[in-house]
Amino acid sequence: MGRTLVKIGQTDVETTALGLGANAVGGRNLFPNLKDETGIEIVQTALRSGINLIDTAYAYGLGHSEELIGQAIQNFDRHEITIASKGAHDGDQFNNDPQFLTTQVENSLRRLKTDYLDIYYIHFPDEKTPKAEAVGALQRLKEQGKIRAIGVSNFSLDQIKEANADGYVDIVEDQFSLLHQDNLAKMTYLKDHQISFVPYFPLASGLLTGKYDGPVSFADGDIRAKNPDFQAPRYDQILAAVKRVQPIADLHQATVAQTILAWYMQNPLISIVIPGAKQPAQVQSNAAALDVQLNDEEYAEIDRLFAAFK
Ligand code: NAP
Repeated sequence: MGRTLVKIGQTDVETTALGLGANAVGGRNLFPNLKDETGIEIVQTALRSGINLIDTAYAYGLGHSEELIGQAIQNFDRHEITIASKGAHDGDQFNNDPQFLTTQVENSLRRLKTDYLDIYYIHFPDEKTPKAEAVGALQRLKEQGKIRAIGVSNFSLDQIKEANADGYVDIVEDQFSLLHQDNLAKMTYLKDHQISFVPYFPLASGLLTGKYDGPVSFADGDIRAKNPDFQAPRYDQILAAVKRVQPIADLHQATVAQTILAWYMQNPLISIVIPGAKQPAQVQSNAAALDVQLNDEEYAEIDRLFAAFK
């Protein structure tokens, strides 16, 4: 099916507005009991369901997510896929040293079995490297054709400005969801400077799918076990707001998750949205959000329902 594609910053990278967040593909340091075969199937299901963007990072399984994606895409046309990866983790520290980032990109290319990355993000800022120097290293990789767009992630607005001193930043990834709206000022700045924005945790780790209805607990080793969103009283306040999305979803014969993903895709401050998935059926269902079109009133109503989280 033909899809409208989204352009990343001022580059010629184009992607579907919905991507796959691949931290549960091989991210065995983040979630317990992940199976490699399921991870590969999730990626292939995404590509067969009209999604062409896969968002990964070295940090997801310390290279294992990239390795599985490299396997998963072997029988697909590489030029039809937008691959985003990230690096900065150096043991338990962050490192933005130009030479370190250059080596990280080479390692990601090898694990993904490809000769270019469509987007490469500095995953987290370190404390010592001048940000324009770090981004300068990515600009040299861009000139060599090894990456096509430059991103930074988890940077403060001041760090973004510093990183973008030479105008090299094309995209920023940071936390934003209907439950976590603190980055709105940053997002407005990015829009004004034609830098794309991609929010992470768009489904608030599953809470915004509407599937939770009562007390919940997670296995040891699951990053959600200590997440304040899953603790009362905030948890109950969230469930009440999510419930009120259901009537809007019903009008579109859609799920709550699809309706909320459609909201992000219609938000003028957001370029692309990358929900994660633990099962192929989830990614298939999320892909159908590409067909949900909210009217202005519905968009505003969802905005109002979550206004308390601004
Ligand atoms: P998320 O997108 O908010 O939530 C995804 C989780 O929700 C899935 O793993 C699944 O978990 C559940 N889910 C998804 N679709 C569903 C559906 N249709 N029905 C029911 N449940 C569904 O959170 P995330 O995956 O942790 O984050 C998204 C992506 O953002 C990551 O994959 C990663 O690429 C990126 N990210 C980036 C950074 C960064 O520092 N740059 C940080 C965090 C994340 P269960 O089945 O277990 O409920």
